[in-house]
Amino acid sequence: MTRVFLASRNRKKIEEMERILREHLPEIEVVGIDDVEGYDEPVEDQPTFEGNALLKARAGLLATGLPSLADDSGICVDALNGMPGVLSARWSGPPKSDERNNELLLAQLADVPDERRTAHFHCAVAFCHPGGEEFASGVMPGRVLRAPRGDGGFGYDPLFEADDRPGLSTAELPREDKDAISHRGWALRRIAPIVARILG
Ligand code: IMP
Repeated sequence: MTRVFLASRNRKKIEEMERILREHLPEIEVVGIDDVEGYDEPVEDQPTFEGNALLKARAGLLATGLPSLADDSGICVDALNGMPGVLSARWSGPPKSDERNNELLLAQLADVPDERRTAHFHCAVAFCHPGGEEFASGVMPGRVLRAPRGDGGFGYDPLFEADDRPGLSTAELPREDKDAISHRGWALRRIAPIVARILG
């Protein structure tokens, strides 16, 4: 069994990564932050998603000695010059609150007409192993709605309509359906064969 560390506490993310990796490398086990000792979560202070993912994956390799994966993601709104971007989780300041983030984003876009409410989610994944560092990324283009819809998903999902699923917010999509078109789904599916080639 080959073990890989994923710098996350999110069980669903860990299981999803393991499921996708096993399609390429059946003998793989993905362990998360709560399964190992000594991983200190670094401060995510880089200006890019790639930079933050790399910080976390490097810290994972250093702390665990295992080949390590990490992701970083957020929403980039065209009318806000690409913000919230890497600041997505903390857009309305501490403590982290999806609800306040969504309220702030709606207020900031109140005067922006429908045709200029375009946005995309971006996800970067970094993989650090003793022989080097690899990256993959994915995007999900769409637009910001005028009011929240649906109670699935997390973060900005109630405010986001993906181009691939018009008429619904991503909070209204079944999980597998969102995974099939999401920034994170694309990034994970792109890194998986790279990880398999290196570890296989
Ligand atoms: P993280 O990279 O998973 O920590 O996500 C950073 C932040 O970006 C989250 O706290 C959300 O605010 C936002 N975000 C990232 N991916 C999604 C998504 O799929 N749906 C909604 N919000 C997201």
